[in-house]
Amino acid sequence: MAAASLTDLCWDNSFTRELPADPSRDIRPRPVTRAAFSWVEPTPTSAPSLVAVSDEMLDELGLRRDVVDDPRFTRALSGNEVTPEMTPFAMCYGGHQFGNWAGQLGDGRAIALGEVVNERSGRQMLQLKGAGPTPYSRTADGLAVLRSSIREFLCSEAMHHLGVPTTRALSLCLTGDKVMRDVLYDGHPALEPGAVVCRVAPSFIRFGNFEIFAARRDIDTLRTLADYTIRTHFPELGEPSPEVYAAWFTEVVRRTVEMVVDWQRVGFVHGVMNTDNMSIHGLTIDYGPYGWLDDYDPDWTPNTTDRQFKRYRYGAQPQIAQWNCERLANAIYPLIEAAEPLQDALELFVSHFNEAWPAMMAEKLGLAPVDGLDDRPLVEALLDLLPRTETDMTIFFRGLAAVTAGTDDLDEADLLAPVLDAYYRPEELTGELRHATLGWLRDYRNRLTRDDRSPEERAAAMNLVNPKYVLRNYLAQLAIDASEQGEHEMIAELLDVLRRPYDEQPENARFAEKRPDWARTRVGCSMLSCSS
Ligand code: AMP
Ligand code: MG
Repeated sequence: MAAASLTDLCWDNSFTRELPADPSRDIRPRPVTRAAFSWVEPTPTSAPSLVAVSDEMLDELGLRRDVVDDPRFTRALSGNEVTPEMTPFAMCYGGHQFGNWAGQLGDGRAIALGEVVNERSGRQMLQLKGAGPTPYSRTADGLAVLRSSIREFLCSEAMHHLGVPTTRALSLCLTGDKVMRDVLYDGHPALEPGAVVCRVAPSFIRFGNFEIFAARRDIDTLRTLADYTIRTHFPELGEPSPEVYAAWFTEVVRRTVEMVVDWQRVGFVHGVMNTDNMSIHGLTIDYGPYGWLDDYDPDWTPNTTDRQFKRYRYGAQPQIAQWNCERLANAIYPLIEAAEPLQDALELFVSHFNEAWPAMMAEKLGLAPVDGLDDRPLVEALLDLLPRTETDMTIFFRGLAAVTAGTDDLDEADLLAPVLDAYYRPEELTGELRHATLGWLRDYRNRLTRDDRSPEERAAAMNLVNPKYVLRNYLAQLAIDASEQGEHEMIAELLDVLRRPYDEQPENARFAEKRPDWARTRVGCSMLSCSS
């Protein structure tokens, strides 16, 4: 039977029970050594209110749907009530930011409440993002604003429904307090509504949790954390030993490849792939200045802080994920003291990616493998074409399902019809580009004649990997604009559409449209900063 309150869940706080705690309760910013976490209480807020909840997450956690009517639910998930089952804490971690070792970072504005366990979902940690300062807050306030919290809440759930591994979001609360932010870091700070998201994941352990102990040569705590992680979250690998550490690392690498291939599939750009934002579960974590490709542009990043070098641009994500895995390998090397198994696992990144990525692209194109046929040139030709004129990635791939197989020569308009809507500037489809696009569509139709499936079967399979609905940047911004005016309905409305991203949903077709022109250059739509 589903639980009527958070306190009725089965709490089992393994992280705080089994890992070394910081002995100090001082929440002022400071180095924390030889500890995996610090005890810290969420900061009470002036007028908490519940803005949105994920019904699926209520189900996952075994909570009754009407738990949201209980004021204690809102109080707990906004940091205003800590019940005896909860052991609030902030984790200590470090990380490589933009390629450089940054030292201690830690949960500067995330406070975990503890872990709940049930049959359906296993172990899940509940964590409040934006619930006040911790020893890891450095120079910042430990708070989060409504706009970034809406983005995290919606995107976590949207990614889940797209089938992309991700941390989840249970709830979004307004705190009733105002928070000062300078959105573009250009000297125009303003007060914004404060908010708290309750995120949920088996754990929030990051690559950086291991890196911090390795950097400090604290091998004892490094081993304690690795042993805990394996025993609690990867028990199928066996009792920790040098071989098992290597097997565990291999598994992290494998999951990371799967995650990043999924990102490339749906056109998600994380924006800040620092090693402190890499989950050891291979989950997408830390939704900050992320964005979705509208027009397919491998060089695009939403993060204005990264504008110069575009380290975390869409096209670089696989390579950065690999680089991040190398940082984790370095961190756990002292536990294994042999380079070879780690090197083997890193090579697996390349070989696994080189299988998984082409397989994913073939699925997007609806190309079942045919013996002796190499589809790479067809895929590469398409990816060369798409950036030449602004082409909406989501609409284009969705449209491909309507292309018919054939060697007969369709006229130009009929050839283009299935994908025409994807072009932002159809008038640019002239001359050589038009010629090349039509040529590609002919080659593609031709290739489809080698597919044994019926057109309906093929289209159905393609529609399971090419979403119709993604959380377009401008849609999230529209929900934010309304919510900042006190009208929160669009959050639930978007969540509802994004629950079934692969379904046609003709009644919601407006949410599948191209980015409107006004959103091209608007802050929050095409440009995002880390200010959140
Ligand atoms: P991010 O790049 O958003 O993953 O954050 C990097 C680090 O900065 C993490 O340690 C965060 O906890 C911390 N941080 C980000 N924003 C805040 C904030 N408003 N208050 C305190 N710490 C923050
Ligand atoms: Mg982070």
